[in-house]
Amino acid sequence: MTRAPGLTLGVVGGGQLGRMLGEAAAPLGVEVVVSDPTPDAPAAPVVRDQVVGGFDDEATLRELGERADYLTFEIELADPDVLERVGRETETPVHPRPETLRTIQDKLVQKRRLRDAGVPVPAFRGVDSAGELREALDELGYPAMLKARQGGYDGRGNVPVHGPDDVEDAFAALDGPAMVEEFVDFERELAVMGCVGVDGRDTFPVTETIHEEEILREMVAPARAPAKVRERARGVAGDVLDVMTGRGVYGIELFETRDGQILLNEIAPRPHNSGHWTIEGCHTSQFEQHVRAVCGMPLGTTAQRAPTATANILGDVDGRQEASLAGLDAALRTDALAVHWYGKREVYRLRKMGHLTLSTDRERDALLGSVREVRDALTFE
Ligand code: ADP
Repeated sequence: MTRAPGLTLGVVGGGQLGRMLGEAAAPLGVEVVVSDPTPDAPAAPVVRDQVVGGFDDEATLRELGERADYLTFEIELADPDVLERVGRETETPVHPRPETLRTIQDKLVQKRRLRDAGVPVPAFRGVDSAGELREALDELGYPAMLKARQGGYDGRGNVPVHGPDDVEDAFAALDGPAMVEEFVDFERELAVMGCVGVDGRDTFPVTETIHEEEILREMVAPARAPAKVRERARGVAGDVLDVMTGRGVYGIELFETRDGQILLNEIAPRPHNSGHWTIEGCHTSQFEQHVRAVCGMPLGTTAQRAPTATANILGDVDGRQEASLAGLDAALRTDALAVHWYGKREVYRLRKMGHLTLSTDRERDALLGSVREVRDALTFE
């Protein structure tokens, strides 16, 4: 039976995702404690407490486990072995399960697992040398995307291979175990936030994600794809959830091909940037849903309130400098627009510093145009 005040949720990672988890947990009577190596991490001001320590530091995670009723993570750099051991020894359930994290951390293992479960994925091969890459591309053809198996994010760790002349340099750029994948000539990129709770599983309305230089810039929901395609995307996301073990929210990134088929790109075993729009756009946000799921509470509805567009606020400066964002008045004057500032002290080029969400009953093209315009008027000085 759920009570308020109730549980304490321990979160490995105290970045913006930890911060938004803290914001969503408080009204449910759930206290959040995060762990993060950077003192005064973005989540710190909005959660009960921060334990300062590395994502794979056993003593840090043990303290978190001892203080919490449930453990989760907002960053894939958490160490699944340490999480598993700490969860067992402190008798604190970890969700999603560390084994899921282990599968997802390695892009090759992840893709194999999903392909074997019947989830549609782009053609891919594991490659450990430039020679193997060349052989793989003789079969898959050019262009292709070479990906580091571990540690890549926001496009870092991905290298496009345009033709045979690129093979040596592309492999040298990663210099480690990699996978290569056919280049998908997509119509759109989509994402579905899926959730697994004690009382079942569900998917949020499909998000259209707009990337530039492999970095997520804007989102539109529902995606401007035909209803049939959106249904297909939610279906694939449901199949993905069947492969995951443990409760929580999963960010499922997809490609919509030119002929309306869905291919899985990758999964994040946590709330994801592509689901930030749900804070204003849905009755239950992805963050609230994650708290509910992990803590064993009933899931909330995934129904959408209104058409929604979100724009990321990314660093636009050269070098590193103290973060000071100017031009917020226009944003604050815009009806139905919400500002989310992540509280990061330092800004550098393309760092995710915040986002803006416009959620109201208007055409999606217009929503996207307006939120972009407001975002583009912001600048770091
Ligand atoms: P990360 O883990 O860094 O987010 P992803 O593998 O999700 O990296 O790739 C980031 C972006 O790169 C994708 O959103 C997409 O725009 C592009 N991309 C990745 N894989 C492919 C592919 N096989 N074909 C075409 N574009 C791709």
